[in-house]
Formats: sequence, C-alpha cells, structure tokens
Amino acid sequence: MSHLWSPNIRALTPYIPGEQPRERVVKLNTNENPYPPAPGVGDALRNFAIDHLRLYPDPTSSALRQVLADTYRATPEQVFVGNGSDEVLAFAFQAFFQHGLPLDAPDITYSFYPVYAKLYGVELRTHPLTEQWEVDLEALGADKSRSGIIFANPNAPTGHAHSLEAITALLERVTDRVVLIDEAYVDFGATSAVTLIERFPNLLVTGTFSKSRSLAGLRLGYALGSSELIEGLKRVKDSFNSFPVDSLASAAGIAALEDPQHFQACCDRVITTRERTRQRLEALGFEVLPSKANFLLARHPRHEGAQLFIGLRERGILVRHFNTAELNEFLRISIGTDDEMDSLMEALEVLCT
Ligand SMILES: *Cc1c(COP(=O)(O)O)cnc(C)c1O
Repeated sequence: MSHLWSPNIRALTPYIPGEQPRERVVKLNTNENPYPPAPGVGDALRNFAIDHLRLYPDPTSSALRQVLADTYRATPEQVFVGNGSDEVLAFAFQAFFQHGLPLDAPDITYSFYPVYAKLYGVELRTHPLTEQWEVDLEALGADKSRSGIIFANPNAPTGHAHSLEAITALLERVTDRVVLIDEAYVDFGATSAVTLIERFPNLLVTGTFSKSRSLAGLRLGYALGSSELIEGLKRVKDSFNSFPVDSLASAAGIAALEDPQHFQACCDRVITTRERTRQRLEALGFEVLPSKANFLLARHPRHEGAQLFIGLRERGILVRHFNTAELNEFLRISIGTDDEMDSLMEALEVLCT
C-alpha cells in the first residue's frame, strides 16, 4: 500500500494470471495451445518490411478487421479488434456496463470479470451455477434493472457450453441491455453465437487468438456485434489508445486466419486428446466435468486438489488450482500434446494410489 496510490487503486484486487515458469515444465496451467501457430504466421513476420515500423499502425486495423469479417460472415463495421480480448472486455465494461446499474454474471466464471467490475465501479450480481455446473441463463436474464449480462461460453473453468438454442432463447427475452458472450474457447467444440449478431443488436461476442490460434504471446482479441456496439467500443479505444494493435500483430493475425486447415487440425487434435484424457482420468477415479474447451476440470473423491497440485508440481507438471470454496477440490488441466498428457497421467497414477 502506498499513500501515493489513489483510493480506487488501493481498493483493487488485481487478476492473478497463471504463472509462466522459467524452468522446463509440462505446462498445463494457462490453457495455451500446445501446437505452433499456422506456418504462414512465421512467413508474415519474417517477410515484414522492417521499415514499416517507423510508421504508426492503421488505427482502425482495417485489413485485419476485413479478414475477421470474411471469416465470420460479418461486415467490417461489425468487427472490433484489440490488444488481447482482455482489453476488448475492459473496453466493453466502460462502453456498456457503467450505467449505475448492476451487471449480471455467473458466480463461477472467468475471474477477470470481477476485477474489471471493481476497476470500473460496476456492481456485479453473481448467480450460482446449476446443480450440473452450468451457467444459469434463466437467472442471469431474470431482472430488468441491470446494465447487462456477461458470461463465457464455454464457461471457464468448468468447460460447459450452452447450445445456440439456449443462447437464442436468452436473447429473445433480453433485448434492452447488452449481452456479452465471451467465446475464448468456442472453437474446441461449442457453437458460436456470432451468427446471431445480425438479429440481436444488443449481442456482443468476444474472441481471442490466444487459445485456438496458438498466439497468446501476440496479444490479439476481437469482438463481433452490431455496428452500434462496435462504435461504442471504438469511442472507448480512441479515448484511451488509438493504436492497440501493432503492425506486426496485425500481419501475424491475418496470416493465422488465412490458414483454416491448420486451425481446424489443431482444434481437432486438442479435442481428441481431451476426450482420451477424460477417459484416463475417470479410470483413475476422477470426476471430470463435461468440457467443450481446451481444459478439463476434475476432482478426485479421495485426494485434495491442493495436494495433487503440489504433488504434480514437484514432478514438473503445472496445472491450475483455485483456492476458492467452490473449486478447491478441483484441478483445472489444460490439454497439451499426447506426450504431455502421458506425463500427467503417469504422475497422477503415482499420486492417486
Ligand atoms: C484466456 C481468456 C481470455 C483472454 O484472452 P486474451 O485474448 O489472451 O486476453 C478471455 N476470456 C476467457 C474466458 C479466457 O479464458
């Protein structure tokens, strides 16, 4: 604590990212992709005309937005890009949720939402997950006097995804405020709600290059929604930093989008490994929640989450453990390569006998 900090900053509880270790470990703790980005990304970076770095990037990232629009069958006016989807989410909090009314969210979800709520002075009303660990869409949309709704689909760290029908039903009921669906993990087997942005002008869908496109280090995220919502995000961006996406990131992002085969092949491999890992965890006695994401949330009836976390760590395997009342029995395990998952299972076989 410093008296030089403003009261607002003193009151914050910042987000704690999963650690990025220096030593070599089997890293299954931050949901990164185990496979490299599309080969074209390397070409784009190697062939980048260094002299262009003298110049500011295109403030509207029009080339990248055009390729995103083509990818998601939208128009460039329906696309916003930012320095990671975390930044896009932060802009959305300022653009849509600072109405002096509470914001509805699930109680177990991406832990950055409460951090942004605090930073931007937005009161968060959280709703428990259902008995099946699913986001309760009924509860989320029940109260009218709210600034909006935010949730992740698939949800994190549970992995459950709602169907497009369930999302559509929510949007048919909630038409007066922004519904923000964070689709960071949608490419690992869930259905995107992007097809609904034309029909529902209050729907904002965010996505990221960090997980399914193997570019967490590049920092690229996006939002798709009505031009009205995109214009709102742009107003925040141009009041904060006109150039959130640098020219190198833009070139690399375009190259990633232009290789749908590589993208699909990586997602398919992660999904196959996820299901194989699920079976092996269940054979060891774990309860594993159904997941449409690139991670599994699992608990063992006879072994504490914290103990398993420490035991794995001692064996050079990093997973995520959340020290909260609801989640402390669980481990969240990112899906790595088959070899990495073999190492995980060998260690768990020792720890769980
Ligand atoms: C990883 C993640 C993000 C952040 O993605 P970046 O684009 O890397 O900032 C956003 N939402 C959820 C639910 C995530 O898990």
